[in-house]
Amino acid sequence: AEEIERHDFDVVVIGAGGAGLRAAIEARQQGKRVAVISKSLFGKAHTVMAEGGCAAAMGNVNPNDNWQVHYRDTMRGGKFLNNWRMAELHAKEAPDRVWELETYGALFDRTKDGKISQRNFGGHTYPRLAHVGDRTGLEMIRTLQQKIVSLQQDDFRATGDYESHIRVFHETTVTELFKTDGRIAGCIAYYRDSGRFVRFDAPAIVLATGGVGKSYQVTSNSWEYTGDGHALALRAGATLINMEFLQFHPTGMVWPPSVKGILVTESVRGDGGVLRNSEGKRFMFEYIPDVFKEQYATTEEEGDRWYTDADNNRRPPELLPRDEVARAINSEVKAGRGSPHGGVFLDIASRLSPEEIQKRLPSMYHQFKELADVDITKEPMEVGPTCHYVMGGVEVDPDTAMSVVPGLFAAGEVAGGMHGSNRLGGNSLSDLLVFGRRSGAGAAAYVDALDGVRPAIAEADVEEAVKRALLPFSSATEGGENPFVVQLELQKTMNDLVGIIRKADEMEQALKALQDLAVRTRTVSVVGHRQFNPGWHLALDLRNMLLVSLCVAKAALERQESRGGHTRDDFPVMDSDWRHVLLVLSALGEDNVELVRQEQIPMRPELLDLFELDELKKYYTGEEIGGHRADQS
Ligand code: FAD
Repeated sequence: AEEIERHDFDVVVIGAGGAGLRAAIEARQQGKRVAVISKSLFGKAHTVMAEGGCAAAMGNVNPNDNWQVHYRDTMRGGKFLNNWRMAELHAKEAPDRVWELETYGALFDRTKDGKISQRNFGGHTYPRLAHVGDRTGLEMIRTLQQKIVSLQQDDFRATGDYESHIRVFHETTVTELFKTDGRIAGCIAYYRDSGRFVRFDAPAIVLATGGVGKSYQVTSNSWEYTGDGHALALRAGATLINMEFLQFHPTGMVWPPSVKGILVTESVRGDGGVLRNSEGKRFMFEYIPDVFKEQYATTEEEGDRWYTDADNNRRPPELLPRDEVARAINSEVKAGRGSPHGGVFLDIASRLSPEEIQKRLPSMYHQFKELADVDITKEPMEVGPTCHYVMGGVEVDPDTAMSVVPGLFAAGEVAGGMHGSNRLGGNSLSDLLVFGRRSGAGAAAYVDALDGVRPAIAEADVEEAVKRALLPFSSATEGGENPFVVQLELQKTMNDLVGIIRKADEMEQALKALQDLAVRTRTVSVVGHRQFNPGWHLALDLRNMLLVSLCVAKAALERQESRGGHTRDDFPVMDSDWRHVLLVLSALGEDNVELVRQEQIPMRPELLDLFELDELKKYYTGEEIGGHRADQS
């Protein structure tokens, strides 16, 4: 048998996006020895692609902003299905996390009086997104990495070894977690270049692996977002929640085909861009749902005035939460009022001067010029919905980020609960910082409580994991299909049958197709050797994509209502009886999942009192709001 490289750490962080890096920094600051493992190159995570900004109620641009307003916006955005404790921690701690980034060296755009500037975004009452042009994620990753380097320099001075406390393993993919006596004991990974295995013995693991978008044909996500963390957690015995809720971002590129799905940032609308159909009409005014009627402008004039006088006007409906805008675009296209390539028009050219557009949206300008030969300072963009973000993820304790498996933590996009049925733009970058830090602290405290007694990995588990990973090369799968073929079919199934608008019969069809795809996934075969073999890598990813897709389809079929990122053609309205229900998924063997319904914990009374009774009535059952202040008098 091949000799397997072995490392011992206190905490292993899987993922080097914002959540993973912030977790690693925290665990190291609590004195732990930390590994950071990432599937892609260090620095290349989704976080780096984030454009619009990081939401935090600092009140720099509008002093009326505070954590309570941010909390309310987040709960509204998630249609009150959010884990309220996570939303509370997030709203309270986000400003500190942004300020802290400045101490790491981040340079945000400024207001005239030198404060961190904040921009408007869908669903946020006040300008709230701290940003660096439309390249916020890049600055965030740059400074978090810089902080890690600076900690490594401290460690070098203290121990003579830069990597004594934080070591980065990049282009390294984790394929299995190990448990012993019900607790986390470590994990195994392979190096993408050599194909050799490496094991990590550690009592605490933080999953920070991001999203699942690659299970869909049209997506803003890049190649590594195959739901690995979600699947690893399930297989280790953890539970997933909210998996029926996927965010279809309203504005992805639709043309040319090679770039279909690539994101067009919401900042275009935040900075004044408007959506029009083929008749030139600003159609969003027709799509303001009842629950948002009071907060959105009903005329173009009022909407336009809001950009310069937000205190005395209501915001334009182009800035409704993403689920609303995506559905509206979908309806316009279906009704035959779409743009030539099956989207709608997003117009910034007639709204800002070319100089302003180039200054505020430099990445968008280049993206359209280079990829579509469209000059956005002169003509409108063509845009349409694209699978963007998964609200669902690992069920965790809000304060420590630990899953139901002792020693297994999750933060960032791979964790569930925080965003409920729909995430507000900008709330992910803040989520990463707040819960990245909390998961690092949670993992460190967990390790301390073990008092030096660490579960040992069972050697048989390692052998089994290696055998399984090498299966696509073996004669057992000879004649099996090419993983790329199976992947395409999986993506098409999810896109067509469990997409933005869902129907029971289509989802049943999807579940059947997934059963068949499960068999084909188990027997995919690859040729060649283990050195940098993308076919083999995909064969391993497919296993995860399949399991996660099953979770999405099963939960989506179960939830008989429309809410946030889950729209049912056959149950088109939101139903209060579903608001307090969580669909909890756990693994049942290799490629099956079990679903149970679980009651949400009721919101703490003083948080419930932050909302007016009239608003709550739109979401809650009568019984649930019995304890509200206005109801008691
Ligand atoms: P990621 O940054 O996605 O990082 C995941 C890490 O896990 C990567 O390092 C990956 O290599 C690693 N990984 C995955 N699987 C494995 C494995 N098996 N083994 C080892 N490593 C693994 N949000 C906002 O708030 N504001 C925005 O403006 C914004 N803009 C966005 C623009 C785009 C184009 C996209 C795609 C997303 C945007 N988002 C935005 C969403 C936000 O960027 C992501 O939700 C967030 O960055 C996720 O961060 P994360 O730390 O959870 O994971």
